[in-house]
Amino acid sequence: MAECIFCKVIEGKVPSIKVAESDSILVIKDIAPKAAVHYLIIPKKHISDVRAFEQENAGIAADMIMMAQKLSQNLSEPKAFRLIINNGAEAGQCVFHVHMHFLAGKKLPGF
Ligand code: 5GP
Ligand code: ZN
Repeated sequence: MAECIFCKVIEGKVPSIKVAESDSILVIKDIAPKAAVHYLIIPKKHISDVRAFEQENAGIAADMIMMAQKLSQNLSEPKAFRLIINNGAEAGQCVFHVHMHFLAGKKLPGF
């Protein structure tokens, strides 16, 4: 999608710090981290949010979870982490290309 910042990141048109990559997923460091470890797990396919998933691309959601599991293996003990997906501006979504926040490091504040 032409005006989507994460599509531009995926295409390499906007710089980012890459953490991991698979056929379907790119993981980058968040530009404004809210925790000691703050990654964004982003599907390469443009899907606006969880509500826009269809059964035929549900595998991408599974890929996002499995990528989170893989990232967690590189954390220091106790390897605890939080996953957040904001869906809709009213829920805090700013970039309308679905992404999972992967937060870890030190003790995360209560939720
Ligand atoms: P949202 O509020 O949509 O759930 O989260 C969007 C996240 O993307 C925010 O935490 C914000 O800091 C991050 N972000 C926005 N633009 C960029 C960018 O160009 N590069 C990177 N690495 N992160 C971005
Ligand atoms: Zn996009």
